[in-house]
Amino acid sequence: MLLQIEQLETFYGASQALFGVDLSIAKGEVLALMGRNGMGKTTTISSVFGLNPAKRGKVVFNGTDITKQKPYKIARLGLGLVPEGRRCFPNLTVNENLLASARHGEWTIEGVRKLFPRLEERGQQSAQTLSGGEQQMLAVGRALMTNPELIVLDEATEGLAPVIRQEIWKAIRALKNTGQSIIVVDKTLSELLPVADQCVILEKGVTVWRGTPDNLDADVQERYLGV
Ligand code: ATP
Repeated sequence: MLLQIEQLETFYGASQALFGVDLSIAKGEVLALMGRNGMGKTTTISSVFGLNPAKRGKVVFNGTDITKQKPYKIARLGLGLVPEGRRCFPNLTVNENLLASARHGEWTIEGVRKLFPRLEERGQQSAQTLSGGEQQMLAVGRALMTNPELIVLDEATEGLAPVIRQEIWKAIRALKNTGQSIIVVDKTLSELLPVADQCVILEKGVTVWRGTPDNLDADVQERYLGV
């Protein structure tokens, strides 16, 4: 397994948010991390990246126990994050944002520009002047520039215009085709399910369902994802 999470329990101060999250993803897989609002998706991701480390349970990446590891060390091991809300460096240009995170590997700035041609057009612009969609492309590009073995996208297309959403999904499909391992959180099931190899559903900080998109039938959807 590339990433294995076992019985993760994470807190915000005294308040417990995760009560037992399990998931595992093999190399080359796309995993859809699902669940209604507030069920623990972002907290799970924060725990994996060491931003809010788990109090109990275990996170193993490529054979290394990273449960209590520092975020920068986790990133160096080959985990790339596209956080909710994007968080590019606002005062740096697009090019600077990309180059700032570059690490040796197959992904270069040219590759990122091929994936998102808009980023080439906007190369000299500061990140804060980009549209939300362009910022998301930049956030994905920046994560790719670290040449991650596993890239994690939290709310991949939230708040973006439909045309831009399509571009992001297209890029995710292209990444999958290169064999990139991906964990993705998104509410658009019609786009998410076709690209996913497996789904993990959280409810109240617990993994309550794991399976393939084919098995995620209407009952499961209504029970765990329905509004
Ligand atoms: P969303 O899609 O709304 O972001 P989510 O599934 O990612 O939902 P989390 O953001 O992980 O869910 O939230 C899980 C639980 O942790 C919720 O009960 C939430 O209220 C709580 N929580 C999240 N962030 C904090 C925080 N900074 N301080 C305290 N509690 C928090």
